[in-house]
Amino acid sequence: MTKQIVIATKNLDKLRELEIAFDGLPVEILSLADIDDFPDAIEDGKTFEENAEIKAKFFSEKTGLPCLADDSGLEVDALDGKPGVYSARFAGYHAHDVTNNQKLLEEMAKINATESPAAYHCALCFVDVDGTKICTTGTVKGTIKTTAKGEGGFGYDPYFYIEENKTMAELTTEEKDLISHRGAAIRELVPKLKEWLSCSLG
Ligand code: IMP
Repeated sequence: MTKQIVIATKNLDKLRELEIAFDGLPVEILSLADIDDFPDAIEDGKTFEENAEIKAKFFSEKTGLPCLADDSGLEVDALDGKPGVYSARFAGYHAHDVTNNQKLLEEMAKINATESPAAYHCALCFVDVDGTKICTTGTVKGTIKTTAKGEGGFGYDPYFYIEENKTMAELTTEEKDLISHRGAAIRELVPKLKEWLSCSLG
């Protein structure tokens, strides 16, 4: 017997990373791209945790299926924690990686900073139709510098230094997963999901 589960994303990169949480478990994963065209959840939480829970509850109610959602972003100390929960929309409603990174450089220039301690955060929230809720978080600390390096990753990775001279964008997907905020949150979620599945499948 398998269980159907929705992963609340249309982003194929995120889907691949989050699917890892269910590796080897008797579940059929559906993404938002596989099901009816629902409106977006209104992510008006003040924290990554709140937004992940808002999304998981919204799509679980809409689909009638258990749902896993994530919310993640970058906090830069010199910018008082910005972009934070607005990481995906830092440069505005139609922002994308290039414009968000331009905005990051502009904000750093405004305060005459060329580097600052920073962290990526990820919150995962899994909600079952009976209201069961499993949430985990992960963080990776680093330094934002205004010189880009590396071609891999996505988002702010070319500016996120994990070592003096190495950015997140210089890691392979596997290397990134071992140290990333999302990897950490997934690893914490997996045993909890296994316990939930063994209870709900009986
Ligand atoms: P979300 O889809 O609302 O969770 O938005 C997350 C945003 O935070 C992304 O669009 C990126 O700008 C940023 N972000 C989250 N995780 C990462 C990462 O691993 N590398 C680079 N940027 C990230």
